[in-house]
Amino acid sequence: LAVPSDSPTIFDKIINKEIPANIVYEDDKVLAFRDINPQAPVHILLIPKVRDGLTGLSKVFCLLSERAEEKHREILGQLLYTAKLVAKQEGLLENGFRLVINDGPSGCQSVYHLHLHLLGGRQMNWPPG
Ligand code: 5GP
Repeated sequence: LAVPSDSPTIFDKIINKEIPANIVYEDDKVLAFRDINPQAPVHILLIPKVRDGLTGLSKVFCLLSERAEEKHREILGQLLYTAKLVAKQEGLLENGFRLVINDGPSGCQSVYHLHLHLLGGRQMNWPPG
């Protein structure tokens, strides 16, 4: 299990275009790209482009549970709304989709840069394992 960390992650390199990613949506605040190890026909990660929405410091917003503050309300809402836009773009609105945030070790978070998983294109199961 990955240990929570404030260090820069591979997602910073994707944001800075230092390593390639299959980007499906980008604006000034949010980046969405296909997961390298997809768990469904559509598996997209949505991330805030800065890890602290206010200061732009890149070491603050690693996990939701400990780091989300009042000042992050706007970017948190933007991530959810963007997920809907991308779901539409991917043709998922008719049958539905799943949004997931893995938080911390028990949540199976492996990359400590907040991200929203958008999964679709197949029937999901509930409860998850
Ligand atoms: P977590 O377990 O932290 O919620 O999910 C991290 C996700 O990031 C995993 O689904 C993993 O496949 C994905 N991932 C890790 N490294 C890369 C990468 O370099 N590029 C892309 N596109 N996805 C990655």
